[in-house]
Amino acid sequence: MLAIVRRLLALSTLALSVTALGATSTGCAADTGGEESEDDEPGTTEDAINAPRASGPLRFSHACDAGEKITIAAVGDVLLHKGLQVQSVDASDHFKSLWRGMSHLVAQADVAYANLEGPTAEGVNKSGSSVRDPGHTFDDNVYSSYPMFNYHPSLVDDLKSTGFDVVSTANNHSLDRRAVGADRTIANLERAGLAFTGTRPSTDASRPWHAMTTTRGVRLAWLACTFSTNGIPDSKKQVLHCYENRSEVLQTIRDLSARRDVDGVIVTPHWGEEYMHTPRSQEKQLAHDMLDAGATAVLGGHPHVVQPWEKHVTPDGREGFVIYSLGNFVSGQSQLPRRSSLVLYLGLTKGRDGKVFVNGVRHVPLTMRRWTVEPSDKASDATESMALTTQIFGEWNRMKSDERLVTNPECR
Ligand SMILES: [Zn+2]
Repeated sequence: MLAIVRRLLALSTLALSVTALGATSTGCAADTGGEESEDDEPGTTEDAINAPRASGPLRFSHACDAGEKITIAAVGDVLLHKGLQVQSVDASDHFKSLWRGMSHLVAQADVAYANLEGPTAEGVNKSGSSVRDPGHTFDDNVYSSYPMFNYHPSLVDDLKSTGFDVVSTANNHSLDRRAVGADRTIANLERAGLAFTGTRPSTDASRPWHAMTTTRGVRLAWLACTFSTNGIPDSKKQVLHCYENRSEVLQTIRDLSARRDVDGVIVTPHWGEEYMHTPRSQEKQLAHDMLDAGATAVLGGHPHVVQPWEKHVTPDGREGFVIYSLGNFVSGQSQLPRRSSLVLYLGLTKGRDGKVFVNGVRHVPLTMRRWTVEPSDKASDATESMALTTQIFGEWNRMKSDERLVTNPECR
C-alpha cells in the first residue's frame, strides 16, 4: 500500500495515462492467445515514471561543414509474435502489412537498418532438427513465437524490397533454431541481397563479422554484437558477443576505422535491461569505448522500449553519437512503452580526410497497434505514445512524418 501511495505521488500526468493504458492493454494481450509471455514481465509502470527527459536540442559542431552527405534510417527490433506472423500469412502484402503505414520513412533514407530478431530458417523445428517445411504459415513448430522465434524466409525479401539495406543478426534470438538456423538465415539473406552483420556461417570461422554499405561513394562498415543468446550455446562460434568478446569487438572497430576503404563505422549492439528507459553503466561504458575506438555511431537495441541518445566527444575530438535503444520496431507487445519507438535519422558528412562525421540526428515517433506500426502523428489515439518519445528525445530533433528529410535544419 505504501508503495502505491508513493507511486501515485510520483506520477506525472503522462505517467498516469501510460499506466492506465498499460493496465488496459494487458487485458488485450490475453486475447492474442496468451503467447506474448513477455508482456507479463513486471516493471513497465515504474519505467514509464522513470523515463528520462531530453535536456535540449542535440546538435553537432560540424553540422554545416561541406562534403558528401548521406542519411541513415534506423529502426529497432523486428520481433514477430504470433499475431504478426499470422497477419503476414493472410495479408496480400504479407510481412509488409506490419509497416505499410510508414515504409516511405525507410525508403527516403540512403541507407536503412533494422535488427532482425530471430532466424528465418525454413524446415527447422524448435529443437533445431530438419523437418519438412510447411510453407508460409504459422504452425508453432517450424514457424513460431516467443520464446523460440522463427520466421518464414520471405520476411527477408519483404524487408529488402521495403528499402532496408542492412540488418543485425546478432541478438538473443540468433540461435533460436540452433546453428543450422543461423546458417539458413544467412543463406536467405545472401539470396535476397540483404547485408547482415553479427553472425557467420558455421562452416566459415574466418568470415568477417561486419557488413559494408556504399552510397554515393560513402563506405560504411556495420558491426553488430549481442549480450546473450538466451543460454543456447554458441557451439560453432557463429555469433559476436558484445561483452564476452569485448576486446575483439573493440579491436575490430579500431581496424575497420583505420582502413582506407572504410569511411565510417556504425556499431549496433544488442544489450540493456528489458523494459527500462535508462541505460546502465555497462552499456554507457561500452558505448563510449566503441566510439573512442573509432566508431562513428552506436545504435543499440533489445530493451523493448526506447532509451535516450547522446553525443560523446572522443579523446581525439570526434563527436560520436549513441542511441542506447531503438525500442521495438514491430512486435506483439501490447503495453504503451513497448509499442512506442522511432525512426532515427542519422546524417553523415564525408570530410576532407575521407572519414564521415555526424551532421545531425532527427526522429519520427512511431506507434505500433495490432498489428501495424505507423508514424505517431498519423496514427489515431497516439497522443500518449508521442508524448513518451518526445519526453525522451525532445521536440527540436523531432520530425513530422511528411516533412522533408533534413538532418541539419539549422544550416538552411
Ligand atoms: Zn532482444
